Amino acid sequence: MKSNELIQLSQQYGARNYLPLPIVISEGSGCWVSDPEGKKYLDCLSSYSALNHGHCHPALLETLTQQARKCTLTSRAFHNDQLGPFLKQITQLCSMDAALPMNTGAEAVETAIKALRKWGYTKKGVEENRAEIIVCENNFHGRTTTIVSFSSEEAYRSGFGPFTPGFRIIPYGDLEAFKSACNENTVGFLVEPIQGEAGVVIPPVDFLKGAFDFCEQNNILFVADEIQTGLGRTGRMFCCEHFGFQPHAYVLGKALGGGVYPISVLVGSRDLLGVFEPGEHGSTFGGNPLACAIALKALEILESENLVTRAWELGSKFQDRLFGLNSKYVAQVRGKGLLIGIVLKESAGGARQFCERLMQLGVLCKETHEHVIRVAPPLIVNQQELDFAFEKIQEVLQS
Ligand SMILES: *Cc1c(COP(=O)(O)O)cnc(C)c1O
Repeated sequence: MKSNELIQLSQQYGARNYLPLPIVISEGSGCWVSDPEGKKYLDCLSSYSALNHGHCHPALLETLTQQARKCTLTSRAFHNDQLGPFLKQITQLCSMDAALPMNTGAEAVETAIKALRKWGYTKKGVEENRAEIIVCENNFHGRTTTIVSFSSEEAYRSGFGPFTPGFRIIPYGDLEAFKSACNENTVGFLVEPIQGEAGVVIPPVDFLKGAFDFCEQNNILFVADEIQTGLGRTGRMFCCEHFGFQPHAYVLGKALGGGVYPISVLVGSRDLLGVFEPGEHGSTFGGNPLACAIALKALEILESENLVTRAWELGSKFQDRLFGLNSKYVAQVRGKGLLIGIVLKESAGGARQFCERLMQLGVLCKETHEHVIRVAPPLIVNQQELDFAFEKIQEVLQS
């Protein structure tokens, strides 16, 4: 079937909850994808950083097929032989004590919320049903009804109430606002160390570490949502490393499954993860052997292919080139490693049309929040591919 027929089908039979660029991807390999007509494109979105390893990484495909032939699902009614090794690996990588696996990012965030609340009641001594979690304006933590309850984005919330109480929203980057929002019922701070969906927003240098220190002093747990920023994307294994602290827990997802299979996890102290008793939380597919085998391999590849250092070196150089772009449309370029936002001026008339032009030229980017073009290729990208991307971005922004 041709691209336009396929697009028509998904429009006719699908819900309209997305507005994709008008391209159908039917094959992918490394950083490149192609459409049914055979046209090739460089993927500079990486499925919102889930494809750090690129498309169809051969070693991940090998693990996928091998494990799929052995055993795919046990449920947590029984043990499986992949879960333990995976939990050990991810826990050690994070320098934490324990981990709880789920499937999607939003589920792992929900897990963090439940863990924080129960920790508050059983360990901190917060009065039942009074726990508060602090979050930031313009956050993105997923799409469940509880998570959109503390979104500040109208489009994520409108029409979906009533909402879950127990959250306080502060401006991202405002340390004083954070401190004033804390009280004896505050159990945790849930925050993205760089806000990806909000447009690659980097907080002021002192904000995260300052908030972490305040948490330490006041028995509040700092949970970093590194679903998008973690696992090498920003040129460190975890984005928090840029800011010089180790949070009390990480939420990970996306690239953890190597872009092949969904798996997410809450990783944290025994104190926090220890709050769950049998029967209190779970997921049928969470921790299944297929997901665990793939995640183990995905973590191994981050190391063996040196993807974290590559992200830093290639990303920094690429950003420097973008800074040098002399475009009347560009207000700012910001990012870390290979998570980069090109912020357009109001007068440019929105990022969407630029993404459409780039698509025609063979580069796939996606606008985020009207005015930002997010550039986030797979971490396996090489210099020639980045040169190609730069050339096309330059062409579009200088026309
Ligand atoms: C993508 C994302 C999520 C949600 O993950 P899903 O797998 O889509 O549920 C949560 N937090 C951040 C920071 C994300 O980027």
